[in-house]
Amino acid sequence: MDLLKILSRGTKKTTNSVSAPPPSSKPANPQLYHDPTRGLKRKRNEEALDVATTDDAHEFDFFAAPDPVETRAKETEQPKATKPQPKTEEVQLLDQDEVRQVLRSHRLKFTLLSKHEEAKLKVKKSKKKEQPKPKSKDAKLSLYPQPLTSFTDLRNAYKISPRLVENLAKQGFRLPTEVQLGSLPLLIDPKTALKNSESDSVKLGDDEAINFLAVAPTGSGKTLSFLIPTVNAILKRRAGSGKPEGHVLEALVIAPTRELAHQIVREGQKLAAGTGVKIVGFKKGMRLPTEDGVENLDEDSNEDGDDSAASEDDEESDASETPKSDGPITKADIIVTTPMLLLNFLTKKGSARKTLPHVRSIILDEGDVLLDELFRDQTMGIVSCCTNESLRFSCWSATMGSNIEALLLEKFGQTESASVVPLVRLVVGLKDTAVPSVNHHLIYTGDNERGKLYTLRQLLHPNSSNSSTTIPEMGLPFLVFVQTVERASSLYEELKFEFPAEAGGSTRIAALHSNMSESARSKIIARFRANEIWVLITTDLLMRGIDFRGVNGVINFDLPTSAAAYVHRVGRTGRAGHEGGVAVTFYTKEDIPFLKNIANVISLSEKQAGKEDGIPKWLMDALPKVQKEDKKKLKKKGVESRRGNKAEITTKSAWEKRRENNRKGAIAGSKKRKIENRGDDSDGGNSEWGGLDG
Ligand code: ADP
Ligand code: MG
Repeated sequence: MDLLKILSRGTKKTTNSVSAPPPSSKPANPQLYHDPTRGLKRKRNEEALDVATTDDAHEFDFFAAPDPVETRAKETEQPKATKPQPKTEEVQLLDQDEVRQVLRSHRLKFTLLSKHEEAKLKVKKSKKKEQPKPKSKDAKLSLYPQPLTSFTDLRNAYKISPRLVENLAKQGFRLPTEVQLGSLPLLIDPKTALKNSESDSVKLGDDEAINFLAVAPTGSGKTLSFLIPTVNAILKRRAGSGKPEGHVLEALVIAPTRELAHQIVREGQKLAAGTGVKIVGFKKGMRLPTEDGVENLDEDSNEDGDDSAASEDDEESDASETPKSDGPITKADIIVTTPMLLLNFLTKKGSARKTLPHVRSIILDEGDVLLDELFRDQTMGIVSCCTNESLRFSCWSATMGSNIEALLLEKFGQTESASVVPLVRLVVGLKDTAVPSVNHHLIYTGDNERGKLYTLRQLLHPNSSNSSTTIPEMGLPFLVFVQTVERASSLYEELKFEFPAEAGGSTRIAALHSNMSESARSKIIARFRANEIWVLITTDLLMRGIDFRGVNGVINFDLPTSAAAYVHRVGRTGRAGHEGGVAVTFYTKEDIPFLKNIANVISLSEKQAGKEDGIPKWLMDALPKVQKEDKKKLKKKGVESRRGNKAEITTKSAWEKRRENNRKGAIAGSKKRKIENRGDDSDGGNSEWGGLDG
């Protein structure tokens, strides 16, 4: 850990070169935790050991060495030639001890959060294995549902559409990640998942669905965890209704930014290819089948509404579109949207509030932020428009504050009615920690901002004579996070010509923030994904959910504004188990009052990853405790001195700066007016991202 060591720079040289940015493409084990011995030292260790060493136990993919992709894909087509074949009718479930051992080895913890009257709980009293009794009225009950032993079992045991299993194999997914192995059985078929379990205290309603909260690391495959059950439920209902072709809007996925919404649509379309299930990204101007909407969808519907609706939006054309009351209805089974966009459609001024009567599933991706101050009213506004009696929700994130959990519980977990739908929480690993595949570095860059530029240049040009022992090796491409839009722009201006022309010059660096048009944002993201851009300077707009597979590093040029923000920002690297991601956080004297929370996350994350070089205790003790008020202020507005115009990042002379400022002021003013006129930048304008940006 490089805390407070800037003075000791100066020896180690790295071998990095600007001419060959190597996006990490090594195949990785997507499972972050797979220690089969974990938990064996507990009371029932002998029994558990038996489980881990029986032949059956070797059938679990996660205890065995990963097979090559081809083998697994083949297996999907001709399932389990060498393994004992589970009968399709008679599902082979793990017994309680096996289940507990598997859940423990993968650090999965299930808890029933909702409160159910004692009388309704059918807690089995087993002599041999005691279900820990709730200690008090508020104590939570642990659950032990069946884990998913392999993707093939989605077909064999949980009877999902074979096409979905094929589509997973086609994408090269061999092993389910922890969040997938924990959540998929429970979400696809809760009755089966809870069958062998003492946790039949979960009283399922007629539709057997549950409400669900998942807290799992960044890049651990949460998207597929909610998409697979959603697409499968639609296919199942379609098959049951005898109307295999019709599109009924059954599910909403809400995400905080358009970039993330687009990404979910793309992943959904790959998963649902060939199934007939249609996933569409919601755009301004679209109409959905609402309660007062048109009944006869087939006549009135948007026949060509294929994937154009879901493709990267051309927002300039959006701007001119207004929802026409008699325009075509978009046909879709699943809509993915940012909250304000959909709420605007549902509660348009001057017309009656619309409802979405067929939506049975609301998925909140990055749910903690969707239920936090910024988006709460918008999100809950949409929920209140979904009037189906069987409405269920699920909420996904890598971080989850206790206040958000309490809100979920209040809204969904303790109704007065007799039938409280079970609300189950899954936590993978330690809550609110960074992914174990990332290496963390805190670098003190001096009293003021200048040291940051200097250190960043050292990271960009590690072969220069200034390289030091404390500057980590960091392969391109990487992301640089700053606090505001202004700082993103000015850092970009400062670094624009950092790469030599022969390496692509200014085309290798870009800035992305909420003051840019959506089409410009989309283009930059596409170029970054294609490895044409090597350094992307951005704000918190990109901190959540965005999956750039090849990102080798994240630089927090400006301190993240909360511990959760740290977890999400650095979670843009080390995804899907890719090792070697580097997270570098700069701090100056001004950051010290806020640093302890970040240092705590780093320390905890390193401990969890089994790494030795955490922040030394004496240093941790030396950092001041972050005051509650400061914490709040930081989260809302960022570090004072980096806000607004005073926060430019530059080495230019004051005169040049002033001249440029005037020019930029005029441009910014005109851009702002344009955005205001457009009036649709709901999630950029005043959000955690845009808000701090502004
Ligand atoms: P999260 O939402 O948890 O941050 P994502 O759903 O964005 O993570 O997934 C991160 C990456 O992992 C994506 O590129 C996704 O395609 C990939 N992925 C998902 N599931 C698996 C799997 N079982 N095996 C390998 N890669 C996976
Ligand atoms: Mg995600």
